Amino acid sequence: MTQRLYREDPYLLEFDAVVVARRRHQDRPAVVLDRTAFYAESGGQPWDTGRLGAVSVVAVIEEDGEILHVLDAEVAGDRVHGRVDGPRRLDHMQQHHGQHLLSRALVEAASARTLSFHLGVEEVTIDLDRHVSEDELRRAEVRANEIVWQARPVSVREVTRGEAESLLAGDIGRLHGGPAPDERAQNRSTRALEGAGDRVRLIEAQGFDLQACGGTHPRTTAEVGVVLVVGHERYKGGSRIRFVCGRRALTAMHRRQRVLDEVGAAFSSGLEGLPEAARRTLDQLRESERRGRDLLDRAMESEARRLLAEAGGVPAVLARAYDGWTAADLRALAGHLVALAPSVALLGSRADKAYLVFAQSEGLPHDVPALLRDALTLVGGRGGGRGNLAQGGGDRLEGLDAALANAEQTVRARAVGGA
Ligand SMILES: [Zn+2]
Repeated sequence: MTQRLYREDPYLLEFDAVVVARRRHQDRPAVVLDRTAFYAESGGQPWDTGRLGAVSVVAVIEEDGEILHVLDAEVAGDRVHGRVDGPRRLDHMQQHHGQHLLSRALVEAASARTLSFHLGVEEVTIDLDRHVSEDELRRAEVRANEIVWQARPVSVREVTRGEAESLLAGDIGRLHGGPAPDERAQNRSTRALEGAGDRVRLIEAQGFDLQACGGTHPRTTAEVGVVLVVGHERYKGGSRIRFVCGRRALTAMHRRQRVLDEVGAAFSSGLEGLPEAARRTLDQLRESERRGRDLLDRAMESEARRLLAEAGGVPAVLARAYDGWTAADLRALAGHLVALAPSVALLGSRADKAYLVFAQSEGLPHDVPALLRDALTLVGGRGGGRGNLAQGGGDRLEGLDAALANAEQTVRARAVGGA
């Protein structure tokens, strides 16, 4: 049984130990020590990293009652000097204790209980048993920070399981002002005690929060620095809260500040004016788009009038190829043509591919989809349509002129034949 030095002193980062067993874990060497300051992952808090002698400790896990220090190479000798990565340990202490404070503040402010806790690489999340409003959440955030600023002592004690159960039940009952804790809260407090054996470790932020927990915690709440909620969303009938504490809060603020500075420079606006500047720009963009569509439509109409004036004949037969037009442009022009005068529009474009749009005015006799099908064989494409409008496109741009000429010939032949 390894002596867990971090339980007595979470600030201890260096220690000497004896290797009592050698194991393997997922193709890596691992050792069990007689004593360790390395925290093994549990209860939502990740493992410590660091070094044993000259080799790196890449993971620390509990497996079959043993604490395995998973290494990147075999460690030589049976006596080792361990060094825990200090900044990582401090970070975990800040996040984990901050979680205790925020969870308790959410019980006070919103009667919301924490069901699970995850300490991620960037953010920390807790899942709550009920949905909390923005208002409740901000109240809890302020309360948690007040407890941080009061630098309340954090104490650790071991009690029997029975003592722990009654202390935690009484604590929850008191905090809720009700006579009995509800079932979920009870489940949570007993779940925290599962696997704890007969001795239970209680962490208390003086006069504020009491929890059964095996994690590493600071001497006072002040070391948490700050508790900053960075987001929340509905999750499984409750809420998921994302937050960061201590140095992570500073990093998160810096990152947001950089983004805001960049966006502010792009909009030539200070922080307060940014939402309005963004709204105004979007409004202008929508107005420009509307105006663009309007101008395009007018241009298409005047192009249609020009073509009809040139063509003469009733009905007019108009075969034209354009460069770079989209299929939508061709459709718009064809729409104006067949609406303005009895006409057959056989339009094509050489763009990223060859586009064809064929249309005729109401009451004209041509089989427009059949005309298009024939034309498409020359541009190697696909398409279709119904009634008076058909469109398609293919990759063989060089076939476009012939496709339009053939279609025009077919239409004129039928008009002359009077069929
Ligand atoms: Zn904890």
